[in-house]
Amino acid sequence: MGSVARRHPDVGELVGRAVDGDARAVARLISLVENDSPVLREVAAMLVSHGGHAQVVGLTGTPGVGKSTSTSAVVGALREQGKRVGVLAVDPSSPLSGGALLGDRVRMQEHATDDGVFIRSMASRGHLGGLSGAVPQALRVLDAARFDVVLIETVGVGQAEFEISSLADTTVLLLAPGMGDGIQAAKAGILEVADVFVVNKADRDGAEQVVRDLRHMQSIGGRYLGQGRWRPPILKTVATRGEGAGDVLAALAEHWAWLNSSGELTLRRNSRAAAEIEALALGQVRQRFATACGPGALEQSAARVLAGDTDPYTAADALVRSISG
Ligand code: GDP
Repeated sequence: MGSVARRHPDVGELVGRAVDGDARAVARLISLVENDSPVLREVAAMLVSHGGHAQVVGLTGTPGVGKSTSTSAVVGALREQGKRVGVLAVDPSSPLSGGALLGDRVRMQEHATDDGVFIRSMASRGHLGGLSGAVPQALRVLDAARFDVVLIETVGVGQAEFEISSLADTTVLLLAPGMGDGIQAAKAGILEVADVFVVNKADRDGAEQVVRDLRHMQSIGGRYLGQGRWRPPILKTVATRGEGAGDVLAALAEHWAWLNSSGELTLRRNSRAAAEIEALALGQVRQRFATACGPGALEQSAARVLAGDTDPYTAADALVRSISG
């Protein structure tokens, strides 16, 4: 069957081509990640010695703030510096795969024919570890393919914004005037994880107010005080005109230098690897649980609890025993 050959590609050759920067091989490997391919273990083992060089930049912000326009502007500026850039647009709610989504997005089209840019949207449905399991594997692929910078952008809404920030070396939070109530519109907690603030749509009224609000927030938050701490810069951009993209690049480079000199990069990457391992392990446990329970076992167990034949703890213990054997 042809599909068998498709499902079991020559992993060594594929990884070799990806490491040489072959876009098709990179795309194929990311598809293997998305589909939780049985050869993923082999892929992961081969990639491990090739990684660790790319700066992973997460772009977050509410829909409409200008993430996709800014991504395009930043990619353009990075290309002017001769940097190779990977872009991963993650849509945790979409069943789409195969890179159609972002490739179709008009604003990224100008980079579609550039060899130094790899653009891919990613769905994480079906992956054992969900978004937090799949995206790190895709990042490893892009890193091994020697992209200098990998940008991750979330498409759509939801908790993915937080997950992305935990996967990135540098998190850029985009804000814009006229989006709800200034910085109040940002999700609670997201302001604390930002390494760089970008007030986009600076051509609009209210941008200065957003900047002032951010400065005020920084002045009352004590965590930036102290030597060696990183104080997130506040930048203004007009993404539609590419204005400020150079400042964003400078801030990314400065943060990268700080991550390296302070030891923070190792700390962040350690906790990222820990989360990745946890997600994969829990995914396996969940799958074993589903298999062991079989169809209806959980419901039968629930019925016994309702009938007063057993209690929930005893029922849970029995299920756990059946998967730990
Ligand atoms: P996303 O949903 O966060 O990816 O936002 P988009 O990049 O799709 O941008 C949403 C809308 O805002 C689009 O109509 C953009 O043209 C517009 N936009 C993006 N950046 C700017 C900007 O700097 N100034 C103005 N006036 N509009 C912008």
